[in-house]
Amino acid sequence: MRVRKLLFTPGPLTTSETVKQAMLEDVGSRDHEFVNAVKEIGSELMRIGHISKEEGYECVIMQGSGTFGIESVVSSVIKKNDTLLVLVNGAYGERIVKMAVIHQLNHQVLRFEEDEIVTPEASLKYLQAHPEITHVACIHSETTTGLFNPIAEIGAVCRKQNAVFIVDAMSSFGGIELDIKESQIDFLVSSSNKCIEGVPGFAFVLCKNAELAKAKGQARSLSLDLYDQWKGLETNGQFRFTPPTLSIMAFRQALKELEAEGGVSAREKRYRTNKMVLDKGMKELGFSQYLNKEIQGYIITSFLYPDNPHFNFDRFYNKLNDRGFVIYPGKLSKANAFRIGNIGQIFPDDVSALIVAIREVLAEEKISLTVTA
Ligand SMILES: *Cc1c(COP(=O)(O)O)cnc(C)c1O
Repeated sequence: MRVRKLLFTPGPLTTSETVKQAMLEDVGSRDHEFVNAVKEIGSELMRIGHISKEEGYECVIMQGSGTFGIESVVSSVIKKNDTLLVLVNGAYGERIVKMAVIHQLNHQVLRFEEDEIVTPEASLKYLQAHPEITHVACIHSETTTGLFNPIAEIGAVCRKQNAVFIVDAMSSFGGIELDIKESQIDFLVSSSNKCIEGVPGFAFVLCKNAELAKAKGQARSLSLDLYDQWKGLETNGQFRFTPPTLSIMAFRQALKELEAEGGVSAREKRYRTNKMVLDKGMKELGFSQYLNKEIQGYIITSFLYPDNPHFNFDRFYNKLNDRGFVIYPGKLSKANAFRIGNIGQIFPDDVSALIVAIREVLAEEKISLTVTA
């Protein structure tokens, strides 16, 4: 029998049957239904971010995974004489640095430890010492570890120092209440297959029209030209190149299901409950976490490898996988850890079932852990 797999990962995630069913009808890229779906998605995403066209914001959909969306912003909006500051405390921040290198942007990097948040104080101090900086990029939910950076406070610093603020909210948007205007975010990027619970296929950029307009003719890539992409969608509702049609249809359904669940606050509550069940269960099994509780988000959790000679991550992973539970390897630079995500179509009962499976695998592997109070 085929085991239905549950993905406890940072994405792609477990999706509902109805989201998958929304992909069963072929749809032409010029079809009214498709063009309308794109429009609906744009306004719904803006509503979720508490912004609107009337307030001067836009939504641009970009084909590809989340990284394509980030690279589209980074390579389109930072002009020749601009300087980008990347605030880094994990692998996703480092990824933006890599983009800056490849596109030969003037850039600087302010690094924090992986188990520390980006602080508004250090960011302010750095910006005050470096008036040449015009743009700042930061990750909201650093999926490397699972911490949340204080994005609204960093946004306030950027505004104070007159810097354009770019936020990678990939693994948080839709799973946490976030007011884009209030957080003073100029460009926010997320993707179809994270907290909105659609399937992979595209990224979306929620941005200030006035800043987007400045990107005209500035792109360093044809396919990732953010301004041209927006212009195309704006003038005739068309993508410049083949759109991910079925992924879009699935996403529209996913947005309806987010609304039916009770919106972002209800989804946040479910994810928080998943996280509570996970934390409690893993603690009872004797696992410890990499991060301090105070800076930990509820999207994904890094657990340290247990200090036990019988523990082998590949075997642990495979045995859980055979039981239908997909977890995720770690990505830390200093410690051995694995990750368990709480997002996607997974519910507290699924997390409890995962804990039962982990208990079984530990017993099979003859791993006994000391449980600390
Ligand atoms: C998932 C994710 C991305 C994008 O990754 P892709 O593999 O390109 O979809 C970027 N940043 C963060 C913080 C993420 O969690």
